[in-house]
Amino acid sequence: MSDSLILRIRAALAGVNNPATGRNIVADGMIHGLGADAAGRVRFTLAVDQDADRDAAEALLAEAKKAAGAVKGAAAVTAVATAHAPASKAASNSAAKTDSGQTDQQKPASGPSGGHQNPFGLKQKPKAEAAAETLAGVKSVIAVASGKGGVGKSTIAANLAVALAASGLKTGLLDADIYGPSAPTLFGVKDKPVMKDGKIVPSEAYGVKLMSIGMLIDPEQAVAWRGPMVMGAVRQLMSDVAWGELDVMIIDTPPGTGDTHLSLIQTKRLAGAVIVSTPQEMALADMRRGVKLFRQTKTPVIGVIENMAWLEGADGERQYLFGEGGARNAADALDAPFLGAIPLYPDLRQASDDGQPLAARDHPGADVFKKLAQDITRLIER
Ligand code: ADP
Repeated sequence: MSDSLILRIRAALAGVNNPATGRNIVADGMIHGLGADAAGRVRFTLAVDQDADRDAAEALLAEAKKAAGAVKGAAAVTAVATAHAPASKAASNSAAKTDSGQTDQQKPASGPSGGHQNPFGLKQKPKAEAAAETLAGVKSVIAVASGKGGVGKSTIAANLAVALAASGLKTGLLDADIYGPSAPTLFGVKDKPVMKDGKIVPSEAYGVKLMSIGMLIDPEQAVAWRGPMVMGAVRQLMSDVAWGELDVMIIDTPPGTGDTHLSLIQTKRLAGAVIVSTPQEMALADMRRGVKLFRQTKTPVIGVIENMAWLEGADGERQYLFGEGGARNAADALDAPFLGAIPLYPDLRQASDDGQPLAARDHPGADVFKKLAQDITRLIER
């Protein structure tokens, strides 16, 4: 089963030492987008410091792949290294800075020589015009973020969007998880988007308008993107898609805090961020970093969701596989609202793999998402 396979892979990756810090690559938050399908195909990205020696990064990637590949049940491993600004550097840079250290104002609006590059080949609008158009018809934009990959961020973003739509709100989901887009799988959407009047028409599934970076580009291609390309892609997903009038848009962001988050923050369209974490300390450390980044950039933290909080046995007894209440306690300590806990539901994993969101079904898990949707609606209205 892919859930337990992911846990075993993560444990194996935690055995790989990062010579640059002396800690392991999981503790250093280098593993992003860890996932596995039912056939045992494993994928992840290894986030390396952009200043790191290339040979050393490749050696570390090879070691991580080998460790993952040796895990029982892992049939194939796809992994790539992506270059990132060190977390401390990214957070301490002002939100107007990109990875290359230039400010937005210093950069040309488009073009191959720099600036926010145009990854989809659409004609790029002048910056001021694009900014004015950015989600102009959308009332509230909410980012769903997580410190680590594999904590269920995309699953929650998708099911939350379905629950919001079911509550009568006009809802969109923008899957901006550039290194591991999963909305097409979660919604069972296979069609390629079409263009109308110079804009990309979003797909629609379970009452949600849907656009994923995975519908526009080959994810294998995007993993090599650096700051300007990522920023260009995110901005185009916001301004070149015919989102129309929406009450709420959920944005599924990549794990960690990187270029995508900074470019979203720069658009000044975020009503706030919802942060997803599993309860164990290893995930919480990164969650705290995420809360700090949003606060530093004056983006309200709407609240924290604890996922995979427990597993209920046939006798109704709860097993706290990753410890009890870790995310709730961390949220309290950070003075951030706690939005609720979601247990491990094998049906949720199955529904996600089947492309049929659990929130659309009659299931206790659907009720959890319904309640979350109500609470979030109340919080953003306030
Ligand atoms: P992330 O976006 O944080 O990388 P995903 O949403 O892709 O994580 O989830 C990782 C895996 O865990 C997926 O297989 C998903 O179906 C599963 N999953 C997430 N949350 C739960 C849950 N509460 N119960 C069971 N499986 C879950």
